[in-house]
Amino acid sequence: MKRERVAEDVYVFYSDAYAQAAAGVVLIPEGAIVIDTLPFPDETAEILRFLEGQGIPRARFVVNTHFHGDHSYGTCLFQGATVISHRFCREALVQWGEQRLAEAKQQMPAMQDVVVRFPDVVFDEEMHIHFGKRTLRLIHLPGHTEDSIGVMVEGDRILFSGDAVMPVPYIPWGNREHLRKSLAIVLTMKPEMIVQGHGEILLRGEVAETVESSVKYLDNIEVRVAEVIKRGGTEAELRKIDIEACGRSRIPLDGLVSQLHQANLRAIYKQAKRSRAF
Ligand SMILES: [Zn+2]
Repeated sequence: MKRERVAEDVYVFYSDAYAQAAAGVVLIPEGAIVIDTLPFPDETAEILRFLEGQGIPRARFVVNTHFHGDHSYGTCLFQGATVISHRFCREALVQWGEQRLAEAKQQMPAMQDVVVRFPDVVFDEEMHIHFGKRTLRLIHLPGHTEDSIGVMVEGDRILFSGDAVMPVPYIPWGNREHLRKSLAIVLTMKPEMIVQGHGEILLRGEVAETVESSVKYLDNIEVRVAEVIKRGGTEAELRKIDIEACGRSRIPLDGLVSQLHQANLRAIYKQAKRSRAF
């Protein structure tokens, strides 16, 4: 598993097994703050071993950036940690978590020992965690999902964006208008670095261009799907709308971005069809 040290006491871990999902660790005098976990328990267990190797017996806090399993299923491994999320994340896990996990277990035997861990502490707009003179700023960034948050490591200005920033915006679960607003907030935060929920780190010089191109991508896919609907095209025709024609590369996440892009198109198509039915 790839591990990257991005500041003196801040590390990022990447899943090899699923979509380059990223998890972060901030070492603090009292232990560690873990920002998201990895999709499979054996990968999250490597984070635990890393902490042991650093002489840290436990994580003090685990932050869930949103309820999706590829970010939250490892939470149960951090016994004794206080789990923090948006209020909607806790609500989503209470409502759907166990059913979704049961489905995941049927497809993936590696998930057998996972249990849904409900967050202990929730917030609505913003929350700060202080340790010594330093601060982690947790901020609501809805759009990918309505419970999505970002975590800014103040001082280093490293933003763990969760899936608010990804190699392609992914919106079937979310709300495009909210995502546009959240991306505008990301720009005002002026991060030195963004650790995306999946894929490569964005450095300061790449942030504005990438975030702006995400907004343009959202505009482009709406226009393209509207064109198909206007001429009475079928859902199958969406396959002809290439991700690169909408302004994003097909290369990241080993090409998975093209599948995410197609799911975006289908979601917009279905939504538009539904709203026209009334
Ligand atoms: Zn994700």
